[in-house]
Order: sequence, then structure tokens, then C-alpha cells
Amino acid sequence: MVCKICYKEKATLPDRNKPWSKRKEICSKCHQDRLKSDLKVIIKDNIKRSVKES
Ligand SMILES: [Zn+2]
Repeated sequence: MVCKICYKEKATLPDRNKPWSKRKEICSKCHQDRLKSDLKVIIKDNIKRSVKES
């Protein structure tokens, strides 16, 4: 099974958008990239919130 995001690396992790599925669909590299973009969104949200509150 090849990673469904990059189609290059071997999939070693399940898609976290599909918690019911245990099929491995994502490589660790893409998984980390996702986490990074998640973090960016969270940080942005926090900045927005703190601007509103102040
Ligand atoms: Zn990948």
C-alpha cells in the first residue's frame, strides 16, 4: 500500500480522518506534514481569539 497523499512512500499509518478504518494509508512523512499544518491552524486560531479578547 502506497501513501495516498504523496504516492511515493510506503503507507505506515492509518488516515486519522477515518478512525473507524485501520487500513494504513499515509506515510509518516505526510502524517508529520499534516500535524504541522494543524499546528499552524491552531496557532492562528489562538491569535485571533486573543486579539478579540483584548
Ligand atoms: Zn506520503
